[in-house]
Amino acid sequence: METLDKAGRSPIPPLPQHCGSGGIQRFIHATKQLLLWVWHSDIEFRRSGWPAMLLAIVSVACILLGLLPQDVISNFSSLKNVDSVRIFYMVKDLMLSQVESSMVGVLIWASIGRAVFGIFIAAMDVLFYRHVTGRPYDWESMINISLVNTFLAAAALFAVFNPAIRELLGYYDQLIAHIPTLVQLNGALALLIAALLGDFAFYWSHRICHSTRLFWNLSHIYHHRNRSLNLLTCSAEPPTMLLAAAGGLSLLILPLVTKLFTTDVHNAGWALVVFIAFDALTDPSHSVALYYVEARSWPLRALRWVFVTVGVHYTHHSRDVEGKYGTGCNFGARMTLWDRLFGTYVEPPREIPPTGLFDPAADTCINPIRYLFSPYLRMAQELRQNHPRHWPRILLGSTDYEPPVPSKLSR
Ligand SMILES: [Zn+2]
Ligand SMILES: [Zn+2]
Repeated sequence: METLDKAGRSPIPPLPQHCGSGGIQRFIHATKQLLLWVWHSDIEFRRSGWPAMLLAIVSVACILLGLLPQDVISNFSSLKNVDSVRIFYMVKDLMLSQVESSMVGVLIWASIGRAVFGIFIAAMDVLFYRHVTGRPYDWESMINISLVNTFLAAAALFAVFNPAIRELLGYYDQLIAHIPTLVQLNGALALLIAALLGDFAFYWSHRICHSTRLFWNLSHIYHHRNRSLNLLTCSAEPPTMLLAAAGGLSLLILPLVTKLFTTDVHNAGWALVVFIAFDALTDPSHSVALYYVEARSWPLRALRWVFVTVGVHYTHHSRDVEGKYGTGCNFGARMTLWDRLFGTYVEPPREIPPTGLFDPAADTCINPIRYLFSPYLRMAQELRQNHPRHWPRILLGSTDYEPPVPSKLSR
């Protein structure tokens, strides 16, 4: 067993030597060395000389990469329905052919406005990060997350366009098509109920993600890693992103819920635009700039009575909130109703709270390979090192549970 450093990582091995004319064993050895080197080599740039110039170029490229497809990545189902717009986080995309023709142009412009607003807020985060948090902007983390998100987006695209996967999803779409509509609600009311019920489903699935090892360790942990959280360093979760991309199944229950109530939004009219406007305001929920503004503006703070504002969701990522895994509050996505009802609502503090996991070594946000695969290797190691009788708890136990032989890999 190799010696671990203070951060719980193995020392960085030397760069592999050229394998020369040796046989296959030398090739395998060189490959293994290369993989180990990649595994342990963090993204790091000096802040002077040519590395600083390189950092600037890579950062701009990553920001463009991160911003351009931001709406597409978070809403891959629109790739299949290009004539649709997203009305509200929890509500399925709305086909423009379903609404009054006079509203089509308004909705398209409202969607463009939402995208532009998101880009503006991301830029504000970069510019004012130090002012808000007192720390320099974490460019390496931003580059890493951009690389990871781009990789996931590429994998998601593969999922969307892969014929075999599409066929499989076709069956799911058919299943959804057979779900009856319980109540023929109309317009804005249907959307409101769908949003509330969608948020209810999100609230509980989110709580389960925090309390159950499997969902936490293999999925939601990605979203909570970053100790330099802002709009551009907010990571998607690989499994949920792939599921969402594959068919809008961010949660299996959501399409069912929305199908039950949202069949006719033809006459929802301007209510749709109001929905989009509120969604645009609450969607950049990891923004430090918006947190700062909200903490100093009573009209924005007043929105917390109903909506999961940036402050409310950012507090969900707080390390200061009780609970071993950094969060125990504010699980809702868009409305604070369910948190208030089930006693998990916490009022955001005036100063922006620290984010990330409690174990500093767990914040592997500067190496895309280690970032992506360490949770899975960790779980595999736990299963391999422990007797099968412990497997049910290792997989489905509480996130507080540690197996008798713990993994040596950091989270
Ligand atoms: Zn969470
Ligand atoms: Zn979040």
